[in-house]
Amino acid sequence: MSQAATKPLPIPDELSAPFFNGAREGRLMLQHCTGCGAWSFPVRERCPHCFAAKLEWRAASGRGTLYTFTIMHQVMNPGFASSVPYNVAQVDLEEGVRMVSNVVGIANDALRVGMKLEALFEGSGDNVHLPKFRPAAG
Ligand SMILES: [Zn+2]
Repeated sequence: MSQAATKPLPIPDELSAPFFNGAREGRLMLQHCTGCGAWSFPVRERCPHCFAAKLEWRAASGRGTLYTFTIMHQVMNPGFASSVPYNVAQVDLEEGVRMVSNVVGIANDALRVGMKLEALFEGSGDNVHLPKFRPAAG
């Protein structure tokens, strides 16, 4: 008897814990530099714009636009076998950072570059929740 494969999940560490803690609570947390005011993602220790170690966590708006996407048809990992075809999207957040995610709640052939999106959070496993995006209301 075989066990169904599961999708690989990120493993939060000390640096990224605020991101995943926020996701579990339904908030999209990003790092914001108190030195130059820039937002950054992915998680890092220093601001990529001014290199100051002055990054603090703030809740982002969760709003963004679809920058680009692709549709995955091949099963590159057995954990995704029941999900194909699925989209992999790059989303430009209002805060000025780009995030790789999936757009849910819409057929893949209805995706359009530039469409307005909003974040939602899907739980996976016991503790790791990942931000996904759906077409923005209104
Ligand atoms: Zn900075």
